[in-house]
Amino acid sequence: MNFQPKASHFVNGAYIEDANGAPISCVFPANGEEIARLHSATPEIVELAVKSARAAQTQWTKHTGTERGRVLRRAADLIRARNHDLSWLETHDTGKPLQETICADATSGADALEYFGGLAASLTGEHIPLGEDWAYTKRVPLGVCAGIGAWNYPTQIACWKGAPALACGNAMVFKPSEFTPLSALKIAEILIEAGAPAGLFNVIQGYGDVGAALAQHPDIDKVSLTGSAATGAKVYASAAAGMKHVTMELGGKSPLIVFDDASLEDAVGGALLGNFYSTGQVCSNGTRVFVQSGIKDRFLERLIERTSKIIIGDPRDEETQMGPMVSARQLEIVEGYIAKGKAEGATLAYGGALIDRDGFFVQPVIFSDVHDDMTIAREEIFGPVMSILEFETEDEVIARANDTELGLAAGVFTSDLTRAHRVIDRLDAGTCFINSYNDAPVEIPFGGMKKSGVGRENSKAAIEHYSQLKTVFVRMTPVEAPY
Ligand code: NDP
Repeated sequence: MNFQPKASHFVNGAYIEDANGAPISCVFPANGEEIARLHSATPEIVELAVKSARAAQTQWTKHTGTERGRVLRRAADLIRARNHDLSWLETHDTGKPLQETICADATSGADALEYFGGLAASLTGEHIPLGEDWAYTKRVPLGVCAGIGAWNYPTQIACWKGAPALACGNAMVFKPSEFTPLSALKIAEILIEAGAPAGLFNVIQGYGDVGAALAQHPDIDKVSLTGSAATGAKVYASAAAGMKHVTMELGGKSPLIVFDDASLEDAVGGALLGNFYSTGQVCSNGTRVFVQSGIKDRFLERLIERTSKIIIGDPRDEETQMGPMVSARQLEIVEGYIAKGKAEGATLAYGGALIDRDGFFVQPVIFSDVHDDMTIAREEIFGPVMSILEFETEDEVIARANDTELGLAAGVFTSDLTRAHRVIDRLDAGTCFINSYNDAPVEIPFGGMKKSGVGRENSKAAIEHYSQLKTVFVRMTPVEAPY
């Protein structure tokens, strides 16, 4: 298997290599085989990328919104036309089953390009009458944005950041996670083919130090990170030193609350999707599943029944529903949490064994009898580990659900819609679901409260985070100076 790109980086419209950068080995998580070898960006590559982005941005901003939008929408069409190849690559880059990547990765990137492409022409300021005088506002780009991505949705993250940035007239330097360096390069190629100027969307590879170099770079105007809360705190601090704009999409430990009157099948389906999709490597997962005591036994029984039927295997097989973890390191982290769950007294209701095959596979895990103070109920695991916590009353579950520093997502399953809205209203979470879980269409804002982040991705809300207002006061009357 060979997925070797022409070179490690895509800068100023072309592939470019600098073999002095630290090596990056890209492996297929389903068998550990190396599929590409790249190099981390050297300081020279970082400089080149930022410089070319600056030059492209000054040209790009001279185009009308309609022209900019057309490029993005063309890129969306190209992505859709090549969805199978892009999904095949994404499956090798991440280990996620083709069954998922074919419908949730490149296609979701295309949605973002199409949506923000459509909005680009409508990004205007306003006219403000002030008697005989008046003022107007202009919505102007921020300049050059850095995008720093996590490894769970590499194509989607590149597009969720790139599309609104470019629609607003910015350029971007994007750094994927070193675990999944391949697919963002394809997005950069496609944007050029769609008519974007060279340098508008650059991809440079690297470890955390390259992300840090971008966050600190004096010619970067905004940093958008998808990553852990710990990395977010570091990146936010260095961006603050340069007074840069930020978007922080960070981790979660989200509650999914199932009341006695919920539809059992829907609630079980929501819990499965919200814990095991992408082998549990989803930031908004509802990993603390609070189940009311009256439905708990039936819920657990059906949950185990449906979990035991999940088809785990080679992610290239379209029948496969669950693939490996992204890396040996992530598998080790998940194993550590499974051991902690057992040691701290949770009941292992299902799974948790390693699977006897090459690659970074683990069975999905259901822990029941989980208490709020156990490590598995407090820390983000980022793997297929679901915790079932029992509750009695609405007030009790709201207090327990909110007892975390994180606030990315929350879900409620109930057939009492008044209660659904009442409970959601009291949950400290940025992205909420009623009788559903983890839907993220581009039309709706996505992001977290508390330590889960700053700013929102997707929807019109993202425009606020990739542009700023310039106000112009126009005096039509004489200046009345008291001097
Ligand atoms: P990390 O926080 O480890 O890394 C995120 C990115 O930041 C990587 O590209 C990483 O590079 C880079 N990075 C690391 N250190 C620094 C630094 N000091 N300065 C600048 N950049 C740095 O997260 P993971 O990649 O492990 O992804 C998992 C995390 O991402 C989870 O916590 C998850 O919840 C969160 N996430 C949040 C989402 C959201 O939208 N809210 C969506 C998806 C994931 P490198 O990998 O080379 O270290």
